[in-house]
Amino acid sequence: MPEAAALFELVVLSGKGGTGKTCVTASLAALAHEPVLADCDVDASNLPLVLNPQPQRRESFTGGLRAHIQSDRCSACGKCQEVCRFAAIALDGPGNGCVPRTYRVDTAACEGCGVCEYCCAGHAIDLRPADSGEWFVSDTRYGPLVHAGLHPGEGNSGKLVMLVREQARQIAAATGRRLILMDGPPGIGCPVIASLTGATRMLVITEPTPSGEHDLERMLALGRHFGVPAWVCVNKHDLNPAMATHMERHAVERGATVVGRIPYDPEVTAAQRQGRPLVEMNRGPAATAIAGLWQRIRAEGSVLINVND
Ligand code: SF4
Ligand code: SF4
Repeated sequence: MPEAAALFELVVLSGKGGTGKTCVTASLAALAHEPVLADCDVDASNLPLVLNPQPQRRESFTGGLRAHIQSDRCSACGKCQEVCRFAAIALDGPGNGCVPRTYRVDTAACEGCGVCEYCCAGHAIDLRPADSGEWFVSDTRYGPLVHAGLHPGEGNSGKLVMLVREQARQIAAATGRRLILMDGPPGIGCPVIASLTGATRMLVITEPTPSGEHDLERMLALGRHFGVPAWVCVNKHDLNPAMATHMERHAVERGATVVGRIPYDPEVTAAQRQGRPLVEMNRGPAATAIAGLWQRIRAEGSVLINVND
């Protein structure tokens, strides 16, 4: 069965934060058989808060470029400041033998566009790789976890997500694990697309609200665009059962498969406070529903996941 040996990449998405996505992902990590875990929310990584990771590897991430002015070459002509659309250049650099002050780049404001480098007649400016963040490979009780974080104000989160996914794939290949479970970022922007492209399935965690319905519609459209089949689970479905049913019907009409419903359960908050996967904490209604969700996912994806737990 060649398909059974294939890597299964399941990305859990929500369209926005606060829907219970990380809670579900952490519980699936505890239920799955030998997964590789990846937190693709590199702007606000939450999965490590629940899985108590022990870092084994720590690397810096250079995601973009920043302008740098060599003060000994700067004639203080001011051209670079004039052309910078991001107000990232100021006359507050050190003096040299010719001028009392030179221009300096505020690297936090610099977008690395390179216009100043192009315009500097004195060739005093060059673009240098920026230290944009860090990524980690950590041990958890449930499997290796690849996670990352951007420094404040840094961009290139899509590039860092791709790096996280590639590391997870390398670990899966090296250890013979066949399931990569990814906690995706919120929204539908670049980091979500980086998480979604090439994934085997997406699991959308949503809530029965008008904004949840809108986000679900956007996530399903994104999945269709990138050719990733969707599973859907409505969290806190009992807070608005009519809306939950409407959303599920809507999802099915758009080609998705509804794989579960999770009721509102105050134990979810208790588990978050303790920093543990819910399914390890209790057998309450939400934990039971998530266990059922995993069984449905196994059944739906068994040919590809080939789990043997
Ligand atoms: S354009 Fe070049 S020489 Fe002129 S102020 Fe800027 S860095 Fe200095
Ligand atoms: S690279 Fe672009 S954003 Fe950065 S200082 Fe130069 S002109 Fe401004």
